[in-house]
Amino acid sequence: PATINRIAAGEVIERPAAAVKELVENALDAGARRIAVRIDGGGIARIEVTDDGGGIPETELALAITRHATSKLTDEALVRIATLGFRGEALPSIGAAARLTLVSRPRGQDAAARIAVAGGAVSEITPVAAPFGTSAIVEDLFYATPARRKFLRSVASETTACADAVRHLALAAADVAFALSIDGTTSFDVPAQDRRARVAALYGRGDAEALVALEAVREDITISGFISPASVTRATARHQHMMVNARPVRDPLLRLALRVAYRDVIPAGRHPLAALWLDIPPEQLDVNVHPAKSELRFAAPDAVRSLLIGAVQRHLATPAG
Ligand code: ADP
Ligand code: MG
Repeated sequence: PATINRIAAGEVIERPAAAVKELVENALDAGARRIAVRIDGGGIARIEVTDDGGGIPETELALAITRHATSKLTDEALVRIATLGFRGEALPSIGAAARLTLVSRPRGQDAAARIAVAGGAVSEITPVAAPFGTSAIVEDLFYATPARRKFLRSVASETTACADAVRHLALAAADVAFALSIDGTTSFDVPAQDRRARVAALYGRGDAEALVALEAVREDITISGFISPASVTRATARHQHMMVNARPVRDPLLRLALRVAYRDVIPAGRHPLAALWLDIPPEQLDVNVHPAKSELRFAAPDAVRSLLIGAVQRHLATPAG
């Protein structure tokens, strides 16, 4: 079973940023109002995600780290995925690839309970003192799979990928307070806020003032958010964040559409800022394309593409603030 878990772990957890994403999504699924993320050594050495959400009852801790145990899967969830996680794969995969510790205290439970798993071997559950909510700590990622560890990039670029993942999730869930600390230094610490304020906080104030609010609706598809006029040139490809039904996505179709929309107004090699939220009926989406759930398949890709391109070009022509 350990071998199976390790192979499967590679599918879900390709690099530290993937573990970060899974843990933060779990915190959001648990109804957290504040999520604190600490990344050390590119997330290879250590990742810690602490939330104030509903917690995991002591009796379910062992189950949570067992393969394909999810408290979220219902028949309806297969069609309308309300929660971010639904496969019950993330924690077992992380537990197979790293040292994983969970400390959790649901409301009403006197103390927190701690469980640890390393290379698939599960510890006893012990009581510890901790506030309400859950902390997930991942240490020595891929220590058990040196081959995979070799494929990681530099600590600096793994750090960047982790920070991007947190920033993307923090944009997607602007109504949740987020803190990110990297190697002991606070990267950002933002309260629950509206989307414009969150974009401003995460993209930088000067940039945010130049942002143009965008809104476009066609039938039951809505796109809203903030884009930069062509003149903002400080941005890189990392200043483009797409959220589909509140889920952070890195979708080739959306990225390409954005490039096309800006093609005639921005010099080659330059990038716009864009934080865009797309709302689309779940039955027009297949989020199951990739285990990491960030790539989508649209039932009507042309409609989505043209709505996005048209909206960006119209707002660039007549900035509406
Ligand atoms: P999934 O999110 O797909 O259900 P995971 O492996 O990510 O699978 O998590 C397994 C289960 O552990 C979840 O279904 C949930 O019940 C519980 N869990 C994990 N993280 C948290 C958390 N931060 N707060 C509360 N429950 C959690
Ligand atoms: Mg999950």
